[in-house]
Amino acid sequence: MCGIISYCGKREAIPILMDGLKKLEYRGYDSAGFAVVENGNNVVVKTVGKVSNLEAKRAGLQINSSFGIAHTRWATHGKPSEVNSHPHTDCHNKISVVHNGIIENYLEIKEELIKKNHTFKSETDTEIIAHLIEDNFSGDLEVAVLKSVKRLVGTFGLAILHADIDHQIIIVKRGSPIIIGIGEDEYFAASDSNAISAYTNRMIYLSDDEMAVLNSNSYYIKDMRNQILDKQIEILEEEIFKEDKKGYEHYMLKEIYEQPESIENAFRGRLIEGEGVSKLGGLEPVIDRLKNIKKFIIVSCGTSYYAGLLGRYIFETLTELNVETELASEFRYRRLHLDENVAVLALSQSGETADTLAAIKEAKRKGALLLGIVNMVGSAIAQITDAGVYNHAGPEIGVASTKIYTSQLVILTLIALLIGRYQSVSFIEGSEIINAIRKLPSQVSEILKNTEQIEEIALKYSKYRDFLYIGRLFNYPTALEGALKLKEISYIHAEGYAAGEMKHGPISLIDQNFPTVAIAPNDLTLDKMISNIQEIKARDGKIISVTNADAHRIIEMSDDAFTVPRTIDILQPILNIIPLQLFAYYIARNRGCDIDKPRNLAKSVTVE
Ligand code: GLU
Repeated sequence: MCGIISYCGKREAIPILMDGLKKLEYRGYDSAGFAVVENGNNVVVKTVGKVSNLEAKRAGLQINSSFGIAHTRWATHGKPSEVNSHPHTDCHNKISVVHNGIIENYLEIKEELIKKNHTFKSETDTEIIAHLIEDNFSGDLEVAVLKSVKRLVGTFGLAILHADIDHQIIIVKRGSPIIIGIGEDEYFAASDSNAISAYTNRMIYLSDDEMAVLNSNSYYIKDMRNQILDKQIEILEEEIFKEDKKGYEHYMLKEIYEQPESIENAFRGRLIEGEGVSKLGGLEPVIDRLKNIKKFIIVSCGTSYYAGLLGRYIFETLTELNVETELASEFRYRRLHLDENVAVLALSQSGETADTLAAIKEAKRKGALLLGIVNMVGSAIAQITDAGVYNHAGPEIGVASTKIYTSQLVILTLIALLIGRYQSVSFIEGSEIINAIRKLPSQVSEILKNTEQIEEIALKYSKYRDFLYIGRLFNYPTALEGALKLKEISYIHAEGYAAGEMKHGPISLIDQNFPTVAIAPNDLTLDKMISNIQEIKARDGKIISVTNADAHRIIEMSDDAFTVPRTIDILQPILNIIPLQLFAYYIARNRGCDIDKPRNLAKSVTVE
C-alpha cells in the first residue's frame, strides 16, 4: 500500500515531508524514510517502524534542503527492516526512489542488472527501479525514467530524484494512486490529497501511464510517448481538508461517533419524499441503462464485501434484479459471463483498492455498466466507472472501517430504492423506507448514549481467546462484519457464521470458553435465533446478544444484551453493527492494542 509524499520548492522540505508522512501513515507503518538533496548530496534517512521513529532519528540531524521524497511502507517484498525501507538508491547513491505497488518482473530485471555489476542491498522489488534508471541514465533523468518504466510490469506510484539535478522530482503512475499539488512556485505529490491539502487545494489527478516533472518554479505532465499533456487543475473541496482526532482517543472511536452525521451525509439531498423515491445525481447519466439491467453484481473486499453481501439482500427485497456479491480478488480471475445488460457495482472507501480496481477493469473489458460507491473524490474507481455515488463521509483514518460501512449500506438502499420504484415497489413502500432512513441518525445517536454499558460488557469479555458471531438473513453479514472488527483490531480469533450453519460444524467449538455474539433483532428470524441460542446454552456457551428492547425472550436468555432501536428489516443491520464496533473497540483498548494501526494491516489496500 505505502504512502508517498514529495516536495519541490523553496521551503524546508523535511518538515513538509514529515507532516505528510504522518497523514499517510494509515497506508502502512512498517518503516518510514526520506531522501533530500543537500549541497548536491543525496541524503537518505530511514528507520523501521512508525513515522515517530523517523521523527526521532531526524531530530538529531541537521539537514537543509528544499526538495525531497518520502515514504511510509507496507511491506510486500522483503520483511520490514531498515535496509528494505524506502527510499532505495542506485549503486552510487545518486538516485533515490520511493514506490507504492509491486513490480512483478523484478527478479528478471534484477538478474540482468547483477550481470551488469549492479550491487543490491535490499530484498525489495523497488530497488531494481533505482538501478534500472542508473543504467539508463546519461544526463537526462526524464529520459532515463521513461525508458526504465517501459520495462516494468506491475503497479507503481513512483517519486524519483537525482542528486546531480537540482530541484527536479519525477512522479510516475500506473495502478497506484498519486496526486500532484500545485502551489505558488512549489509543487507537491502524494498518495492522497489529505497529505498536502494543508499547503494547496489545487490538485492534478494523474491517470495511469502519466508522468509529472516537478521543478522549482514550473511543472509539466507527459504521457509515456513523451507528449506534454494539458491536464486540468481541480480545486479540492473544503470538506476533505485537515483531519485530527478532535479529542477522541482514537480515530476509530471518533469515526464511530461520526456515524449519525456520515449516515445523514449519505442521504442528504437524495430523498424525494413526495414521490417515495431516491434521487442520485451521479447515476442520472446512466438511468435508462440501469432500468434495463438484467443482472447486478457487487464487487468489493473486506468490510465493503460484507456491505455488498447485505446489499444483495436489500436489492433482492426491493428490486426484481438477479443480484450477486463477489469478492473482487476472486471475481477478476473467473470466467465471467458479462455483457452490456449487466451492471457491476464496486464498493471502496479509498476508491483505489487494487483488487476491486482490477475486477472492474475486467468487467469493463466485457462491456458491463460500471458503477461505484466510493468515498474519495477523484479516485481511480471514481474515474473508471461510468457513474457512481460518493459517500461524502469525510476521511476515514482508522484502519478498521466503521462509518464507511454504514454509509455504504445507506447508499446501497438508495440505489435499490431508485431501481425498485421503476419496478414493483409502491409509493407507500418507498415512503416507508424513506421515513426509516431519515430516522437512522437519531437512532444511532441513541445507541451511542449507551457506550458506557457497551464498554462494561466489553471489559468483561476482553480476556477470551475465541468468539463466534451468528446472525440470519440481513444480519448474517452483520455477524461477519462484527467478527472482522474484533479480529482486526484485538487479534482475537472470531468467526462469523450464518446461524443456520451452527449445527453443520461450528457448534462443536462451543464450551464455556467460547462466547457467542448473537445478532437477533425482533424480526421474522427471531424464533429460529432463539433455537440457536438455546442450543448454545445447552452446551454451556455464553451469549452476548444484539437485539431490540421488546425481544424479551432473547434478553432473558442472554448473559449480556445490547439493545438497539427497531427499524425496518433492511436497515436494522445499520443499527446492529454500532454496539459491535464499540464492543471490538473497547476489547482492543483493554488489551492495549494499537487500534488505529493494527499490526500487518493498512488502510488502503493498493496492492493485489
Ligand atoms: N513493493 C514495495 C515494497 O515492498 C512497495 C510496497 C507497497 O506499495 O505496498 O517495499
